[in-house]
Amino acid sequence: MSEDVELSLFLEYARRRLAFEYDDEEVGELAVRIIRTLLERGEAIPDENLALILGVSAVELRRVLHTMHKVGLIRLTRETLDQYRYEYKWSIDREFIRKFLIQHLEKVSSKLTQRIEILSSTTIYVCPTCYRGYMLDEAYEYDFKCPRDDTELVQVNASLEITLLANIIKNLKVEGKQ
Ligand SMILES: [Zn+2]
Repeated sequence: MSEDVELSLFLEYARRRLAFEYDDEEVGELAVRIIRTLLERGEAIPDENLALILGVSAVELRRVLHTMHKVGLIRLTRETLDQYRYEYKWSIDREFIRKFLIQHLEKVSSKLTQRIEILSSTTIYVCPTCYRGYMLDEAYEYDFKCPRDDTELVQVNASLEITLLANIIKNLKVEGKQ
């Protein structure tokens, strides 16, 4: 992956993840600004300074920074000032972003592999009305009708979905290696 592609994937993921965590698009945008600023500065910055640079309240920023750290989007280092005091600093670099993306791709592809295993080992039925899925034994128990809305269940075309998922995994692996 080129650096530009890596960065835009990472920023897009961070934006969506934080918007999701806070159910607030603005927090997603703030996460993007945080990452861009830390990358431009190229050094570890304490949260008070970062708040000044970004023009946001330090309290709000700290909350967002801790969430970003929790989900692995940012690096936190603790520096000892003297015997009693510490300073927390935040940073990010290209290597950090690269490692994050590789780990993320591995997680996604292992989830997809699991899904393929389920699809290949069992027959799955789905309700065309509410899209709820049923394993063969469940479908059998309900007489192949959805218990919610009485719609006739249809068998999922597993081979089509497996082909699709296998392709996605292949592409993810290619992207991860470039
Ligand atoms: Zn249904």
